[in-house]
Amino acid sequence: MQKIQMRTPLVEMDGDEMTRIIWKMIKTYLLEPYIDLKTEYYDLGLPSRDATDDQITIDAAEAVKKYGVGVKCATITPNAQRVEEYKLHRMYKSPNGTIRAILDGTVFRAPITLPCIKPSVRTWTKPITIARHAYGDIYRCTEFRVPCPGRAEISFTSADGKELFKETVFDFQTPGVLMGMYNKDDSIQSFARACFNYALSTKQDLWFSAKDTISKKYDHTFKDIFQDIFDSEYKQKFQEAGITYFYTLIDDAVARVIRSSGGFIWACKNYDGDVMSDMVATAFGSLAMMTSVLVSPDWNYEYEAAHGTVTKHYYRHLEGEETSTNSMATLFAWTGALRKRGELDSIQELMGFADRLEAAALAAISAGYMTKDLAALADMENKTVLNTEEFIRKVKDFLDGAA
Ligand code: NAP
Ligand code: MG
Repeated sequence: MQKIQMRTPLVEMDGDEMTRIIWKMIKTYLLEPYIDLKTEYYDLGLPSRDATDDQITIDAAEAVKKYGVGVKCATITPNAQRVEEYKLHRMYKSPNGTIRAILDGTVFRAPITLPCIKPSVRTWTKPITIARHAYGDIYRCTEFRVPCPGRAEISFTSADGKELFKETVFDFQTPGVLMGMYNKDDSIQSFARACFNYALSTKQDLWFSAKDTISKKYDHTFKDIFQDIFDSEYKQKFQEAGITYFYTLIDDAVARVIRSSGGFIWACKNYDGDVMSDMVATAFGSLAMMTSVLVSPDWNYEYEAAHGTVTKHYYRHLEGEETSTNSMATLFAWTGALRKRGELDSIQELMGFADRLEAAALAAISAGYMTKDLAALADMENKTVLNTEEFIRKVKDFLDGAA
């Protein structure tokens, strides 16, 4: 059998712990036998980040900008305990945070759904994709603990030195808390365009929600920018594709989402998207079935699993115990990236292979072969619980038509 050839390299970002083990297995069993894999490899595992003083993370993000498509393994965000465990030179920032700061953009999270795994919300029959604005708001805020009575003020000085406004935020009589946060029109515009384009490319309706009734300038600006861009650039295209866009208050959106049958994209501001994507992931079944892609304003794509490095399983693995860790989200990060690479380079075989590999993985689960986390959720008679490696090999059997 002739292996599929690639043209442009895919940016490959390796990671930590259990997901690093899964990463290797996916490549060995499911990719390398079929594709002449052309990747530019960046080791974002914690020891390598430490050895390069985290330069490797910056280099990897720059490479995604250069080549357009990357796939990332889950990585440890170090805390004090990790600094001790890995004898780190310093407490490095979250690699995902560093990558997002360089690429900017919107994170789309979608669950991998199967008929045998029933969402907790009975009406959901199709996946719900959350589009999270990955820039600004409380994630870039400046905040204070107010120690004593006093006046908190906010002011703005233009670049040419004029104070354009100054207002009292609150006259404190007691200690309290205070925060300043911001966003930028160009980031909101690219968030809106990323959402409209994603809706068109996946042929799904787009909902956007915020709290414009309370936040008459901040959230209202988000609402207005979305509407302006929709009216001037996307209205016609949406009509032709038979999809719709609408804005609604976040309270109303929450109620509608729960009553819906799914099959749409829910665009959320940064914090709302952070919280709602965890809610949606849990209600669809498992974090291990949640895929994630960061789409930058200048159309670079970074694919990953939504979950972390599955530390608890890794420690068991180190003890020599068998693990049953679900590789679906990591596998779908690879197929998503390979399909996008194929699309950009017009390589039909690569896109077709990504489809077949996903279909094989879904068929394996539908036939009852799954990891422990799914066995607890799947609504079927005969289930075979497999360990981490057995599941990946079973997917290969389905891919090869041997199962
Ligand atoms: P986690 O790795 O997502 O795991 C939390 C729990 O969720 C696991 O203990 C496991 O539950 C279940 N789980 C998650 N993924 C699974 C899978 N593929 N198969 C089966 N079960 C799965 O989160 P965490 O334990 O909070 O974080 C671990 C490390 O990951 C941390 O160092 C954190 O910094 C990092 N992290 C990285 C990213 C990223 O790179 N994008 C995201 C989040 C966290 P049971 O133990 O009950 O089986
Ligand atoms: Mg979250």
